[in-house]
Amino acid sequence: MRLDKFVCKSTLLSKQQACIEIEAGKVTVNDKIILDIAHQVHEKNNVVFEQQRLISRPFRYLMMNKPTNTICSNIDEVYPSVLNLLNNAKYDESINNIDELHIAGRLDADTTGLILITDDGRWTYNITLPTNLCPKVYRVRLSKTFNPMLVDIFKQGIQLQGEQQLTKPAKVKIVDEKEVLLTITEGKFHQVKRMFAAVGNRVVRLHREQIGQIKLDVESEKWRFLTPLEINSVI
Ligand code: URA
Repeated sequence: MRLDKFVCKSTLLSKQQACIEIEAGKVTVNDKIILDIAHQVHEKNNVVFEQQRLISRPFRYLMMNKPTNTICSNIDEVYPSVLNLLNNAKYDESINNIDELHIAGRLDADTTGLILITDDGRWTYNITLPTNLCPKVYRVRLSKTFNPMLVDIFKQGIQLQGEQQLTKPAKVKIVDEKEVLLTITEGKFHQVKRMFAAVGNRVVRLHREQIGQIKLDVESEKWRFLTPLEINSVI
């Protein structure tokens, strides 16, 4: 892990404050002052700041059921960030150092369902790396009847506007005339909406139910920590 991240994770300092302290020569690694914020450290290194050995806090991994009219960003914009829900007095639990967290695989403001939240960048990388083909399952409500003949076309790949290559094979399970479960392994911008637009339909409601082995099981606006089994299922 980078030294700035290590200091940030093991103290109450923000990333910016951690960088200032490192560059001021206030952090030693194995008794040597290190000024390089990107210097790599691991758990066994003796990292000291203000005469105290720093112990890195464990990473955090959560799932949340994102409601509509929220955004998957760390700051509020037109809509509030979903991360506000992590510190909501309405619920029993709240969580510290929210600004260290990020969302692994974003959803649009009007999309609901499963989001994964963590401060472990490597874990997020594994989920989002296109070559890892991590499947995501969406429940898609459509404006028009879905033609069952399209199941094969989705399997072969769809030509999205503005893209050079077909989408990777997608699985469609028909729920009823206007509702399907779609499994995709990519995360292109507005991918699901664009896939149905490409075949002359329109998504009217979009809800993510699953990422890899991790299935959404909390109500809208609620969250919980992931189990070790869920965390390790991604690695
Ligand atoms: N595809 C979309 O079009 N929107 C989302 O929010 C997620 C996938």
